[in-house]
Amino acid sequence: MNIHEYQGKEILRQYGVSVPNGRVAFTVDEAVEAAKELGTEVVVVKAQIHAGGRGKAGGVKVAKNLDEARTYAQEILGKTLVTHQTGPAGKEVKRLLIEEGCDISKEYYIGLVLDRATNSVVLMASEEGGTEIEEVAEKTPEKIFKEVIDPVVGLTGFQARRIAFNINIPAKLINKASKLMVNLYTAFVDKDCSIAEINPLVVTGDGNVMALDAKLNFDDNAIYRHKDIAEFRDLDEEDAKEIEASKHGLSYISLDGNIGCMVNGAGLAMATMDIIKHYMGDPANFLDVGGGATEEKVKEAFKIILSDQNVKGIFVNIFGGIMKCDIIAAGVVAAAKELGLDVPLVVRLEGTNVDLGKQILKESGLNITAAESMADGAQKIVSLVG
Ligand code: ADP
Ligand code: MG
Repeated sequence: MNIHEYQGKEILRQYGVSVPNGRVAFTVDEAVEAAKELGTEVVVVKAQIHAGGRGKAGGVKVAKNLDEARTYAQEILGKTLVTHQTGPAGKEVKRLLIEEGCDISKEYYIGLVLDRATNSVVLMASEEGGTEIEEVAEKTPEKIFKEVIDPVVGLTGFQARRIAFNINIPAKLINKASKLMVNLYTAFVDKDCSIAEINPLVVTGDGNVMALDAKLNFDDNAIYRHKDIAEFRDLDEEDAKEIEASKHGLSYISLDGNIGCMVNGAGLAMATMDIIKHYMGDPANFLDVGGGATEEKVKEAFKIILSDQNVKGIFVNIFGGIMKCDIIAAGVVAAAKELGLDVPLVVRLEGTNVDLGKQILKESGLNITAAESMADGAQKIVSLVG
């Protein structure tokens, strides 16, 4: 799960990580009020969307007085920001963070990530802050430093100081910086984060070390034990189809392609996406209806696929084990009858109650192309979609 920058900063504050004072605003008037309350000469107006790269896209503006704060709030609220992380459709700004302007002397990068290669949390840092870390990794990989953190010991002061030293934090501020890193690590572990990225971390004119941006992601499977974080969820930032799917207990992820997939089992779902790609098609989603799905659940799943405007064809690929083929067939038929089916549908059924399933599909009168195998089905749907 992802949260907004201002929410991330609220959490960081609780852990003693220094961040600028700020207020969230949902309207222009609230933004001006927030700027007044902060009382600093310079405030920064920051678009709150679940994506980075806002600065470059015009979503972060420095206001030197209240009039400018109003102008920028008017400009950014309601605007659709397109950044390298939003995709071409962009994201509409519905919230602003109004924050104290910070006197930056230098920007750095620090991030905590789960590293699957070492099965550990890794602290990454660079003196190339403010820019995209992917770009630094590509062009000047020698400017990225890493510390692998032992889960039993945690991030040691020694490791934090070594990183601070490596990225050339001024000598006088090494202790402040390393303390911030240790606090960030504590927050990361306590809150079950999957990412905690501070870009930029800054050294200020008056000798402070601060997190100026905050990107925190959380492990969805641990949200149940963090009510405070669950409350930060912003459904406006999530895919409507994914929200609907999660209500029905379906594992569904939207993708960019045009072939809707309905599959049982995550492994088969991955394999189905692979084979569609193999035959030069593009899946529109990942969908695992699970093992013990009811007809009702299958129907909801199929409706979610049908509601996707990008879907130009559907491939149902079921290996009936615990899941019975007739239940899938009945769910598909019920959904198609309710919503109409105006795109090609290829169905491959195998396993428990396969004959009954095929019979239900045949008697439905729907225009269904039967497939004999996964490969056959993938080829058929790719050619039907064209
Ligand atoms: P993004 O990463 O989405 O572009 P950031 O929060 O990193 O957004 O802001 C972009 C840039 O704006 C920062 O690198 C920093 O230079 C500047 N900035 C952000 N917040 C402040 C602030 N409170 N005071 C001064 N400058 C800021
Ligand atoms: Mg940033």
